[in-house]
Amino acid sequence: MKTTYDFGHGTGQDRGASGYRNEEHDCREYGALVIKKLQALGHTCYNCTPPASPALTLGQSLAYRVNKANSIGSQLHLCMHVNAFQTDKATGCEVEYASNSGKTYADRVSAEISTFLGLTNRGAKLQGGLYVLKYTSMPAILVEPFFCDNKSDCSKYNAEKLATAIVKGITGIDTSVQAKTTNTTVTPVKSAPKYDESIPTGANIMNISGGYIEKAADGRLIIHLDRANYVAIGKGFIDAYTNDNNGHGDHKRICG
Ligand SMILES: [Zn+2]
Repeated sequence: MKTTYDFGHGTGQDRGASGYRNEEHDCREYGALVIKKLQALGHTCYNCTPPASPALTLGQSLAYRVNKANSIGSQLHLCMHVNAFQTDKATGCEVEYASNSGKTYADRVSAEISTFLGLTNRGAKLQGGLYVLKYTSMPAILVEPFFCDNKSDCSKYNAEKLATAIVKGITGIDTSVQAKTTNTTVTPVKSAPKYDESIPTGANIMNISGGYIEKAADGRLIIHLDRANYVAIGKGFIDAYTNDNNGHGDHKRICG
């Protein structure tokens, strides 16, 4: 997916909010990780944040972001921010949107941030008047993951977890699980024993031309080329497994 993004504030007089933590710093910190993870998943990402200098007025800064995103014609635009209100008066994560397609992303991203960081889920919030959300031509969301002027929120801030949550909200893929999976499959690969390529038999096996279908005891329906190359369909997820029977295997959650 072609994605555009901008990190909030950071030019001219517009320095963002500050409390126990600093918005301008944090949105660049977690935002950079979001982009790295999206790129690792194969998405193309374009930065629409104006350079820090020359200093722009707020109006120029907002127009720069919108014009660049629209000229690139991405399928999603992400604005990365941090919320602020009054010291210790507001708490939780929210994701703002201006269109229905933006709301779908906003709902999911806010829920994931809440789960990953243990923050109150304030949910998707309609902000039809916000310049960047209003004038970008693609679905756009503005992420406000926590309040930088709330002590408890700030104690839960973790850039890596937050980025994982946002990427899961957008793509459905939990990159923290993926990272672990990759580590555990990469290590034993060299000494991996060869697997049996014969087709198993049993009441739960249905032979088809070129492979077989298995009804697994855990409820998954599994379409096999052989014992190590298959697609497993479960309630709410699909996993794919591959192995060349020569020491190279992989598996991945396709969705869910
Ligand atoms: Zn902001």
